[in-house]
Amino acid sequence: MSLVVTGTIGIDSIETPTGKVESVMGGSCSYFAAAASHLCPVRIVGAVGGDWPEAHKEVLESFSNIDQGGLEHRADSRTFAWGGKYMENLSERETLFTELGVLEEEPPPVPDAYADSSFIFLANTHPAVQLNMLEQFPNRRLAVVDTMNLWIDTARDQLLDLFQKVDGVIVNDLEATELTGITNAISAGHAILDMGPGFVVIKKGEHGAVLVHEDGLAVIPAYPAAHEQVVDPTGAGDSFAGGMMGHVASIDQVDLPALQQGLAWGTVMASFTIESFGLEGLQRTNETMITERLEQFRCLARIG
Ligand code: AMP
Repeated sequence: MSLVVTGTIGIDSIETPTGKVESVMGGSCSYFAAAASHLCPVRIVGAVGGDWPEAHKEVLESFSNIDQGGLEHRADSRTFAWGGKYMENLSERETLFTELGVLEEEPPPVPDAYADSSFIFLANTHPAVQLNMLEQFPNRRLAVVDTMNLWIDTARDQLLDLFQKVDGVIVNDLEATELTGITNAISAGHAILDMGPGFVVIKKGEHGAVLVHEDGLAVIPAYPAAHEQVVDPTGAGDSFAGGMMGHVASIDQVDLPALQQGLAWGTVMASFTIESFGLEGLQRTNETMITERLEQFRCLARIG
């Protein structure tokens, strides 16, 4: 039931209506792994440069369930860096800069010790890196990919190739529209299934998420956070994916009911991320807080 993730380990600079931070630890792999590590052990495959701050090393080490055996330190390279600014409504954001750094180099190797991993998450990064990672796990049980507009625009063919080889795709509603030209999430979901995967999760921010699966549909509302509780939405999507994959890996089940439960775990993990800048919300939470919030969410969403 081992879970492995590749993606970015980044240095983020973020501006939200609440405040501004420079050079905090971020990246799709980091948020995913931090969230999933509360539910099961996670192995990471990624690379950082000589500029990777010592403080970020300590942040990563604070998550005891993350195996860093696949993290490569490249002294002469630059770490992936990203800057983003959120609008007043907190759901729209502008990318201020993206410095690819290590992403422009060879993908990091997968350690031999990771060969038995059965749950594979290809967090947002260049599709070539995702493909390289996927090919190293021929006996996988579940492989899921996340992406974003930059890669849909610049590496569409590689991305579509990848979609034919994975079991699931996670995107947000704008990305689903960009991929398919369809605005309705359910219809876009079916169009994505036609591209190859067995399921797609379409995240709709504060409106929750839908799961379009070859065996049926599932929906989940977002955790109801008041405006003032949302400090920084960065990484919410990756944390959602971490919660979802962490859950299915921990119960070792990959069917529609397991994925539907995973949507709830994903929603709860993302709700901790958005309460603080960077990975702080995920650092602060613990098993008791997570199960309490899940129970509260279960009550809020109960029907009948
Ligand atoms: P999310 O808010 O879930 O979309 O994730 C935000 C995280 O993704 C930030 O911590 C960034 O460092 C990282 N990120 C931003 N742009 C990219 C990109 N093009 N590829 C991979 N990761 C990215």
